[in-house]
Amino acid sequence: MSTQNQTPLVVMVGLFLAVTAFLIGQRLDDVMAPAESDAGPVIDWSQYDLVDLTYAFNSQTPYWPGENYKPFELTTIATLEDNGVLSKAISLPEHLGTHLDAPNHFESGQPSAEKIPVETFFGPGVVIDLSLKAEVDPDVLLSREDVDAWEKEHGRVPDGAIVLLHTGWGRFWTNYERYKNQDAMGTLHFPSFSAEAARFLIDERNCKGLGIDTLSIDPGTSKDFAVHHLVNKAGRYGLENVAQLDKLPASGFDIIVAPMKIENGTGGPTRIFAVVPKKLPPAQ
Ligand SMILES: [Zn+2]
Repeated sequence: MSTQNQTPLVVMVGLFLAVTAFLIGQRLDDVMAPAESDAGPVIDWSQYDLVDLTYAFNSQTPYWPGENYKPFELTTIATLEDNGVLSKAISLPEHLGTHLDAPNHFESGQPSAEKIPVETFFGPGVVIDLSLKAEVDPDVLLSREDVDAWEKEHGRVPDGAIVLLHTGWGRFWTNYERYKNQDAMGTLHFPSFSAEAARFLIDERNCKGLGIDTLSIDPGTSKDFAVHHLVNKAGRYGLENVAQLDKLPASGFDIIVAPMKIENGTGGPTRIFAVVPKKLPPAQ
């Protein structure tokens, strides 16, 4: 056998060993490498600013000043010193602080808090600014014309939106007397929706809910609670004492509403979040 004949054999064996080593390496890589995973976030939250539209609850928190309503109470029922655990009990009317009015609040035959369809708690957000008018007139109402003007500037209110009315009343939040603004006759004075504007938003724009930064989706002077009735009659909810409306754009964001799930409840304390897309860096 000449060395000339051995050369192809050596090359072939070498090639075989190389391919085998490569394939074993590949298998090892497959075993060692993490599998392609579906466990990542469905929504990339780093792309959004999350704004908390909820006030913290405490004994000073404003509530509807009706008969039998009372302030928020937090009582310690166990302590680290005595029980090895810190635990407290809460007591509050459903309609205190940042809260939801369930459809059964003003209309019979409508769902109580735990029966509101969860898909109505997620929707496009709209903020209508009434703060300039409210500064001059505490009894001002959002008119149908105000809604038209908003749509002229920002486009049509999206179908199924959650519409929040920004009156600027949040600046009185820590002063309950100023916030409810009750006159000598007992009448409250704060701005809100007119029935016409609310009817348009519910009937013509199919809004999932109406919210406001005051005590009520009806104005303080209301005696008939027309907005509550028409919102609840349509099976929709209200959101009251909503915080930080001055931090939101007029549109182009989403809202998440997370009310306490109280069986047979007429509403309840609610955490509300705005999901606002972060501004893209300016193009180079
Ligand atoms: Zn309420």
